[in-house]
Amino acid sequence: MFNEKMYELGSKRSVIRELFELGKKRAAEFGADKVFDFSLGNPNVPAPAAVNETIKNILDEMPSTVIHGYTSAQGDAGTRKAVADYINERFGCSVNADNIYMTCGAAASLTISLKALCSKDTDEVVIFAPYFPEYTVFIANANARYVSVPALSVTFQPDLAAFAKSVTADTRAVIINSPNNPSGVVYTEETVKAICSILGAKSKEFGNPIYIICDEPYRELVYDSVNVPYLMNYYDDVLVCYSYSKSLSLPGERIGYIAVSPKAKDSASVYAAVCGAGRSLGYVCAPSLMQEVVKRCLKEKPDIESYKANRDLLYNSLTEYGYDCVKPDGAFYLFVKILGDDEEEFCRRASDRGLLLVPGAGFASPGYVRIAYCVSTDTIRRSLPEFESLAKSYR
Ligand code: PLP
Repeated sequence: MFNEKMYELGSKRSVIRELFELGKKRAAEFGADKVFDFSLGNPNVPAPAAVNETIKNILDEMPSTVIHGYTSAQGDAGTRKAVADYINERFGCSVNADNIYMTCGAAASLTISLKALCSKDTDEVVIFAPYFPEYTVFIANANARYVSVPALSVTFQPDLAAFAKSVTADTRAVIINSPNNPSGVVYTEETVKAICSILGAKSKEFGNPIYIICDEPYRELVYDSVNVPYLMNYYDDVLVCYSYSKSLSLPGERIGYIAVSPKAKDSASVYAAVCGAGRSLGYVCAPSLMQEVVKRCLKEKPDIESYKANRDLLYNSLTEYGYDCVKPDGAFYLFVKILGDDEEEFCRRASDRGLLLVPGAGFASPGYVRIAYCVSTDTIRRSLPEFESLAKSYR
C-alpha cells in the first residue's frame, strides 16, 4: 500500500520535463544547434567568482567535521545573525538571528511557511496568477486550499478588485512573488500598498492576522534600477522566503532562508511554528558548507547585465515580429501572448522550429507561453529567425 495522492504527484510528468525529453529527441534527430530550449529556469550565468573562491577557502580553513557536520536545526547562529544584519542594513528593518530559519531554498521555505501557518482543511491561501505551479502542491501539502486571483491583462499586476473579493475569514496567507515567475513583472509600490491595505482591513474585520508570504528567489534579478518593495516595510505579518538559487546561481546547492518579521503578531510563536514545521517535514540543518558560503558572500550579486542583454534582445526582436508581451522588469522570463487562439497548436508550431516554450496553462494563464531566457545570448540570436518564421506562419 502507498499514498495514492503522492503516487499521482510522482508519476505525473511535468510539462517542463516533457519539453526536456522532447529537446533531447530533437537534438538527436536534427542536431543540438537546432534546438532552442527555453523551458528551464536554470541560471546560465555562473556563480560569482567569489563564491567558488570562498568554498575553496572554507575547505582549507575549517575542520571537515564542522563544515560537513550538522548545524542547529534552524541554522548556524553566526549565519543567521549575518543574514539578519544584512536585511537590516539593506532594508532598514530590525530582524534578529531568532527571526531567521535557514532552509534548502525557496521551495523548502514555502513548504515550511505554509505548514507553519495553516492547520485546518478549510484554510485558504491566496495566490496571484500567473503563478509558479508548485504553489498548488505546497499548499495541498499544508492541507489548505488555494484561491487564485487573476492578473490585469496588459500590466500583469494583480487584479485588486478580484483580490479583495477573494479574501475571506478562512484566508490564512497570501503569497506574493515579485519579480514574478513567469511574467517577469515587478509589483509596483502602489500595488503592494493596495494589497497591504486590503489585508489590513480584512485582518481587522475577521479578527486574526492574514500573513503575507513573500516568495523572493528573483529579488536580485531586476533591470534598470527598478524598485522591489520590501514587504516588511509595508505590513507587519510577513514571512520572507528567500533563496540563493538564482541570486548566486546556486540552484543545485539548495540554500535559502525564511525571515519572520519581528513586527508580526506573536512573532516568536510564528517562528516556533516555523521551527516545528521544519522539524515535521525533515527540513532541518540546511547544508553547513552553503550556510558558511552565504555568511561570507551576502553582498555578492549576480551578473545582471548578461540577463539584461538577453531580455533586451528577445523583447525587442519579438515585439518587432508582432508578438505581444509585457516588458519584464525582473527575473529571466518573458511571458508572451500566443498567436492564433490555440495554445497547443502554437506550441506545436514552435517546437517544429526547435523552440521549446512552456505553455501558460501550467501557470494558470492559458493563451501565453513562458520563455526562460537564462540561456546564452548566442542561443537567443540563433533562435530569432525561428521566432520570426513562427510569427509569419500566422499571417
Ligand atoms: N518560487 C519561484 C517563483 C520559483 O521560480 C522557484 C524556482 O524556480 C522557486 C520558488 C523554488 O526555488 P528554489 O530553487 O530556491 O527551491
